[in-house]
Amino acid sequence: MIDEMKTLCCPSCGLMLKSEDKGNSVKCPRCYALVIKEGHRLSYDLALSIAALILYFPAMFLPILSYKMGLATQTGNMFFALKYFYEDGYELLSVIVFFTTILAPFIYIITSFLMFSALYEKRKTKFMNMYFSILFYLREWVMLDIYIISILVSIVKLQATADVMFGSGLIFLVGLSLCSFLLSNAFSPRKIWRAYHASDRS
Ligand SMILES: [Zn+2]
Repeated sequence: MIDEMKTLCCPSCGLMLKSEDKGNSVKCPRCYALVIKEGHRLSYDLALSIAALILYFPAMFLPILSYKMGLATQTGNMFFALKYFYEDGYELLSVIVFFTTILAPFIYIITSFLMFSALYEKRKTKFMNMYFSILFYLREWVMLDIYIISILVSIVKLQATADVMFGSGLIFLVGLSLCSFLLSNAFSPRKIWRAYHASDRS
């Protein structure tokens, strides 16, 4: 397989340069600006999506925190807050929280796994366009990190009135959030495009 020479344009100074398209970083020889950022390998994205898939279920179903007020102890997982929002009349808020912290991450992770496993194995799939569109539009909607911050804020606030303890689910949730952050950070249309067309030629 021969890598073609491509004409690139420096985004900083406008210099036109020729480069082999090997997926490496390319710097402008005149102003040293980064013209192409080196992408991670496909195995990196695939490993992250598998790790996220493993962490997802314990993060969702194990208790995230428990608090003791007087004699009563309350334990809650990811669905606990939704139930309270819904019962308190914040139906729209509970739907938004459900979408951004439970549904969107799940669709994002499962789609990443399906797409990167197909690309990694150089397997042809007619759903590639759909996978790409889902990842492209959904990555702005995965908001696990914001949810973790709000949990930490509520723990600090609750500590004044109750004994608050972290649940094991919080560790999985932090891991899941980290994996999904790295996954969406590594998202590169150029890399996906290259890998998709490499499977044409093999
Ligand atoms: Zn330049």
